[in-house]
Amino acid sequence: MSETAVPTVAREWHLVARPSGWPVAEDFALVEAPVRQPGPGEILVRNAYLSVDPYMRGRMNDVKSYVPPFQLGKVMDGGAVGYVVASQTEGIEVGDAVLHGLGWREYATLDAAHVVKVDPKLAPLSYYLGVLGMPGLTAYAGLLSVGAFKAGDTVFVSGAAGAVGSLVGQIAKLKGAARVIGSAGSAEKVAKLVEGYGFDAAFNYKDAPVREQLAAAAPEGIDLYFDNVGGDHLEAAIGALNLRGRAVLCGAIAQYNDTTAPAGPRNLALAIGKRLRLEGMLVGDHSALQPQFVAEVGGWLQDGSLRYDETVVEGVEHAFEAFIGLLRGDNTGKMVVSLDS
Ligand code: NDP
Repeated sequence: MSETAVPTVAREWHLVARPSGWPVAEDFALVEAPVRQPGPGEILVRNAYLSVDPYMRGRMNDVKSYVPPFQLGKVMDGGAVGYVVASQTEGIEVGDAVLHGLGWREYATLDAAHVVKVDPKLAPLSYYLGVLGMPGLTAYAGLLSVGAFKAGDTVFVSGAAGAVGSLVGQIAKLKGAARVIGSAGSAEKVAKLVEGYGFDAAFNYKDAPVREQLAAAAPEGIDLYFDNVGGDHLEAAIGALNLRGRAVLCGAIAQYNDTTAPAGPRNLALAIGKRLRLEGMLVGDHSALQPQFVAEVGGWLQDGSLRYDETVVEGVEHAFEAFIGLLRGDNTGKMVVSLDS
């Protein structure tokens, strides 16, 4: 066994009450817990970055879903990257960087079979939580595989300045989209979409009804809609989709904190005449695309054809604020929590 000095206790976040509507600080507690030394086959990781992701809101509810709910009084898990500080397994050394699923804590002891080694020399460590990680694969697989993107398509993406959306729009442009339109929640984000990410048009969904703004931005209609938002965005997209258009149902963040059923989309019957295909997706179904995704997206990052932004919140004690900020739209690109400062 090899190891470096580690503290005997460290901080971790527990869910202590199930939020109703928007989560509040009292639903969470930052507690100190013993750091367990690794047993045979295990490693101990000092987390450097934690991921906060919209799907975590669903895990705070006690409902059956594709991912089990967080347990009350237990540490919340989630994506994290960090450095190995003790190892009891062959092939993983102290100092190696790894990606794993035990976030929301400073230190994690876990089975070495449950981590993926990553290379901080190829890309900044935090990128493995974003553009080279789960959100990146979501964008890549959702657009190209689920959405069956074709060169010449007109594409609309909502949540377009976020981790997934900013990549969807850029990948569509790189693959030959005729026109890419994005929606986001501030004037700064709208400017970024056009000037920073090369979208052809963008609008602030808070300025006027999505249906009106989308019709103005896409007078010829759209062929593919990548939905991160649901509700009025999905309804507007169903209205704007051309014959045999496709919609990738990736997320519905507009309703994650709702306590009543959403009102729409009210125009789903349009899908019949237009022969639309609306398909839900889960990134976990697309791991077979991982090597192709890393090669292609990694290449675009290296040659500068893909732009990637992060919003970094410093300190494990601010993880809850980072999470709420994500739901509120404080982030451009991927929201991460840095533990290294
Ligand atoms: P983002 O980085 O896009 O962050 C969330 C963004 O949602 C915020 O920045 C905010 O931006 C926007 N938002 C919040 N509330 C609303 C609202 N009421 N209406 C419109 N936009 C809103 O997160 P991700 O890129 O990580 O995730 C994007 C979507 O993809 C989420 O819905 C998520 O659940 C989904 N997802 C699904 C996966 C799957 O396998 N199906 C995997 C990964 C993500 P703004 O300022 O523009 O409002």
